Amino acid sequence: MALERVGVIGAGQMGTGIAHVLALAGMDVVLEDVNAEALSKARDMIEKNMHRQAARGMIKEDVIAPAINRIRASTSIDDMKDRELVIEAATENEETKRKIFADLCPRLSSTAMLASNTSSISITRLAAATDRPEHFIGIHFMNPVPLMQLVEVIRGIATDDATFQAALELVARVGKTAAYAEDFPAFIVNRILMPMINEAVYTLYEGVGNVEAIDTAMKLGANHRMGPLQLADFIGLDTCLSVMQVLYEGLADSKYRPCPLLVKYVEAGWLGQKTGRGFYDYRGEAPVPTR
Ligand code: NAD
Repeated sequence: MALERVGVIGAGQMGTGIAHVLALAGMDVVLEDVNAEALSKARDMIEKNMHRQAARGMIKEDVIAPAINRIRASTSIDDMKDRELVIEAATENEETKRKIFADLCPRLSSTAMLASNTSSISITRLAAATDRPEHFIGIHFMNPVPLMQLVEVIRGIATDDATFQAALELVARVGKTAAYAEDFPAFIVNRILMPMINEAVYTLYEGVGNVEAIDTAMKLGANHRMGPLQLADFIGLDTCLSVMQVLYEGLADSKYRPCPLLVKYVEAGWLGQKTGRGFYDYRGEAPVPTR
């Protein structure tokens, strides 16, 4: 049976995008955050992004108002009680997520499914902290959600087939493509992408090339749409570092050692586009390499 009532916890970058695509696919969405300001920003962002999609011909203007009306914003987890599936997309902190699930589970029906959008926390471990590990799954959307085609679906050790099938159906219903990943640190995309970015930072650190040479080399030599350092700035250097730490610790292999130069940029607060400076300086008219 298709899911109709879905909850999203956390109205940050990802929760906002997830609510956007669920509502456009016709589902009834409750979007919950502890921060009321995040909810009002989310609403504005969803509206703006839907109009942008309409301007590009990706959706029709007349689907926007009904989709927005299908999203109810809430600061109370009580409003999740009738949800068939709740997707948690709150801050990437295990304690925060565990507490959310502990508050949420007693409010839900026993058949309701749970999902986490975590990028790096073990699905099996999060599931084990709930009363329903067999109904728990990882549904890992990519940023920005309305534009990115891929969703990684991650089964915990206990996830049952019905929950897995429901997750695959949800991904298809929002018009995206699922890639199934086993529950190991950083799943597939980040397991491959972040070591490449980290290697690009090593290449810079060791003076093999400067920022411009490294990005040009990978764009024109490997046919990547963005150079790895430009991409790192887009993702956020703090996020890149934290994924490398998860890989380094989770797989106990020195090949995932975060580059000291990446650590230095993060310590400086040069986190990329979001702080105005990373491997490029974005404060002027055009980005200028910082090395
Ligand atoms: P974010 O910081 O933009 O948003 C997190 C939101 O969670 C905030 O609005 C915060 O107020 C809210 N929150 C915190 N504690 C809460 C609680 N107890 N109850 C309800 N809401 C709470 O973070 P984000 O980038 O949207 O990431 C969210 C999740 O998605 C993380 O698990 C992250 O690993 C994952 N993810 C992020 C990306 C990315 O590129 N940003 C990509 C894929 C997955």
